[in-house]
Amino acid sequence: MAIVDILKEKAIPYGIEISEDLGKKLEIYGELLKDWNSKINLTAITDDEGIAVKHFLDCLLVTKSAEFNSGMKVIDVGTGAGFPGLVIAAAYPEVQVTLLDSTGKKLKAVQDMAEKMGVTNAEVVHMRAEDAGKNPDFREKYDFATARAVAELKVLSEYTLPFVKKGGTFLSLKGATAIEEISTGEKAVQILGGKIEGVDEFSLPSGDKRAIIKVKKISQTSAKYPRPSAQIAKKPL
Ligand code: SAM
Repeated sequence: MAIVDILKEKAIPYGIEISEDLGKKLEIYGELLKDWNSKINLTAITDDEGIAVKHFLDCLLVTKSAEFNSGMKVIDVGTGAGFPGLVIAAAYPEVQVTLLDSTGKKLKAVQDMAEKMGVTNAEVVHMRAEDAGKNPDFREKYDFATARAVAELKVLSEYTLPFVKKGGTFLSLKGATAIEEISTGEKAVQILGGKIEGVDEFSLPSGDKRAIIKVKKISQTSAKYPRPSAQIAKKPL
């Protein structure tokens, strides 16, 4: 069974429909992901069912938590092999997506996969989040920031919230630790100008727990943040 056929079937109970255009792009993505993974370490999940469910469906769950409208800008921080940013770009050709990562070789693979998928609304940016977040080209320019499997919420908020404009949202894709991370990360979120708006909880067909923490940007982030990486790691807010 093709990756996209597995995805289509598994997505039905979530009310997620895979259009023909998205299906074609994701089928190419899945095959290229396996190819690239044989050259560089992109993901530990390499079987077709895993790619369909633990990557594609998992990333598409953000479409249940947020409305991505034409002309909006999204930044995916620590995108790795393109998750969830490249999936969002494939699903919403009218949305501009920035795929940010500090590892250049992963971005080379992402760029290649995006081109071959025919995705033209995504750009890759090779920078650390702490540096890009201070750069006026990126700072407070985005309707949404997303991040999956990058850091704990209290650290991650300092990486991501500087990118989000007032009124925008940071979508933090988490597993079973979401509620605990909210209690240890709520203070950092507030300091950075955010407010936890809610958490959407899901179970993947594999039974794995997923949660999307929605953080609304209610005021500008102080120019003090983000701090240099060593300080963020040593003294999380
Ligand atoms: N988001 C992808 C996913 O869910 O499959 C990748 C997750 S991978 C475990 C974490 C990624 O975050 C790596 O590609 C790493 O290079 C990137 N990363 C970690 N810290 C970063 C930072 N401060 N700025 C930019 N990228 C960072």
